[in-house]
Order: sequence, then C-alpha cells, then structure tokens
Amino acid sequence: MSDRIDLTDIPVVDNHCHSVLTRQDVDPPTWRGHFTESPDPRFRAADGMHTAFYRRLVKAMAAFHGVAATEEQVLQARSRLRSEQLVAALLADAAIEGVVVDTGFPDPDAVLPAEVFGRLGDAQQVTLLRLEPFFQQLVATHDGYDDLTDAVRAGLADVRASGHAGCKSIAAYRTGLAIGRWPEEEARTAFTAARREVTATGTVRLGHKPLLDTLLHLAFAAAATQELPVQFHVGYGDPDVDLRTAGPLQLREVLEDRSYRAMPVVLLHGCWPYVREGAYLASVYGNVHLDLSYAIPFLSTAEMRDMTRAAFGVAPTTKLLYSSDGARVPELHWLGAHAGRQVIGTVLTEMVTDGDLDPDEARWAGERVLRHNARRLYGLAGGSA
Ligand SMILES: [Zn+2]
Repeated sequence: MSDRIDLTDIPVVDNHCHSVLTRQDVDPPTWRGHFTESPDPRFRAADGMHTAFYRRLVKAMAAFHGVAATEEQVLQARSRLRSEQLVAALLADAAIEGVVVDTGFPDPDAVLPAEVFGRLGDAQQVTLLRLEPFFQQLVATHDGYDDLTDAVRAGLADVRASGHAGCKSIAAYRTGLAIGRWPEEEARTAFTAARREVTATGTVRLGHKPLLDTLLHLAFAAAATQELPVQFHVGYGDPDVDLRTAGPLQLREVLEDRSYRAMPVVLLHGCWPYVREGAYLASVYGNVHLDLSYAIPFLSTAEMRDMTRAAFGVAPTTKLLYSSDGARVPELHWLGAHAGRQVIGTVLTEMVTDGDLDPDEARWAGERVLRHNARRLYGLAGGSA
C-alpha cells in the first residue's frame, strides 16, 4: 500500500470563479438558495439543504468557526464577521494564489470588484470577457447589422489589451452548444428580431440562434488569432440550462474547424454529468482542456472522486484544470479548494497503488492540475512551470 499523495500544501489557481457579494449578511432562505440550481421555490426552501453537498458544507463551516454543526450555529458564527473579514479569512484558509474571474455574473453592482476580491484573498487575479452580454450591449447600441459585426470585430481585436485573459461563452444556456454557421440572410433576420426586442424593452437577451452563433464565430476567429483561451459553460451549472443541448459533444463543429485550432478551449464544470465525454475531448483535441469544478456542481465527495477518476483516467494531466466555480459566497471558493486538493490527492494515490504513476509523477500531476496549467493558460505571472 502506497503512502497517500498529500497535496494540502499546494496553493491553487481557481481557473473559473466569480466574485462574492459585497454584503454577506443573509437570511437562511437566501443562503440556502446559493447552493442549488433549482428555480423551484418549494425545493429551495425544503429540499436544497438535504443534499450531500449542503450537509458537508455545514460540517466544514462548523469546524472552521469552532461551533456545532447546525445550520443555525454556522450562520450565526459567520454573521459575527464583517463581510470583508469573512471573505479574507476563508480565502486565506483555502490558500488560493490566483483567481480567473468571470465578471459577467453576478451583477457587478452587487459584488466586490474582481481586483478587491483578489486582494482580499492575496491572490493574483485576471478576468474573462463574457461574450453574450458584450454582444447584447452592442446589439442594443447598433441599428445596422454591418455596423454591429464591425463593432464586434473591433471590440475583440486585442482582448488582452482591453484587460482580459480570455473569453467565456454561456451559449450552452442560451441557444445550445451546437454553434453553427448560418447563411448571412438568416443572421440578418435574427438581428432584426433582436432589434425589435431592443425597441420594445430597451435591452435584448440573445436567444436568437443564427445571430448569436454568427457573432460567436467572429469571437472564435479573434481568439484563434490571439491564441486566447475561450471557456464554455458545459453541462450543469445554471438554472436556465437545457441539458439536451448543453453537452460537450454538441461542440463538434467548432472543435473540428481547423481555423480554430490555435484557440485554447476550456470545457467548464467537468461537463458534469458528461464528464467522460469532456475527458475524451481533452484527450483527442490538442486545444481542448477540461475544467474540474469542486464546488459547483454540488456533489458528494464520492461523486467528485468519480468525476476526477474519469478525467484523470484518460486525459493528459497537462489538459486538466482545477476550479471551484464559486460565486456570491466565499464558502464555495473555500470548500472547493479544500475538496479539490483532497479528492485529486485520493485519485492520484489510487493511481500510484495501481502502478499507473510513481509518487513523484503523481505529485507533479497534482501540482499541474491545481495551479500550473492555469497559470500558463491564462498568462498569470510565474506560469512557465
Ligand atoms: Zn461559473
């Protein structure tokens, strides 16, 4: 029997997360709502706290605050800390050395600015440009289709110079990941419909597939030219998602497009429940990476282990990235970092026992997945390891 591969001393780079609410004081129903993707109010009130994830969260918080493991006690304990104090304490305990922040969610007015969030955690931070809201804003401010496509090209001409380390698409929960090429006429017709929405309501939610797909292709072309990573929401992780059109294999047309081979693709959330499909793609496409997310989806430890086994079982460890997908409350970033180190350590230990890896290789792989792969991909300082 081999010794356990211990990764607890390795700081993590969280390659997919969001900032936290400026005001952390919450009532219990709102608090519970942060740990479910169900929009059903009865579920949120009565069932959400009976998941394996939520029970584990309460126990971990009880240990952190030194109180009894009840929801009431842990909420009381966290409410005794000022919001920034709570965020700083949890992020420090989690040893997060870098964060890649998607600023498109939650509403920027409600959360700490990404740089403040990074500073509180003593973490380097970089941000991603969320493509759909960027497009929506341009659709709302351009009344001609050609002006719009020119503005999209201009806005994405040098994404790093505009302050972002990559892009993120949420097409999975808008119009699906089967992102196709459309005749220009259909994209123009969809643009006219989107503009009607702008005239009627002042804004637009880009659910017009021929238009969104066309604009995404402009973004992919820009990303390929700049070798800029593009994250895709895949699978679980948003109440709006239609899982029938949000699986990773839907991306085939984009992945097969030779002109996009220089665009690093990151499939988020371990593609859960399609983790094997995601791991397969990361094992055959040179530009595809798989993000393993340890807070969202809300899973038991055993299910996180299965997700990790599936990924490490086929994909090179140079193509896997740690994340929490934490948002709104810092407990997600915190619990994710601890769970990620523990679960990846367990799976690497099994691989040593099985004879797949020796202990040095296992430790090297753990460090790559927890920090170095993300440092290199998003250009964080010290990323050449
Ligand atoms: Zn996210």
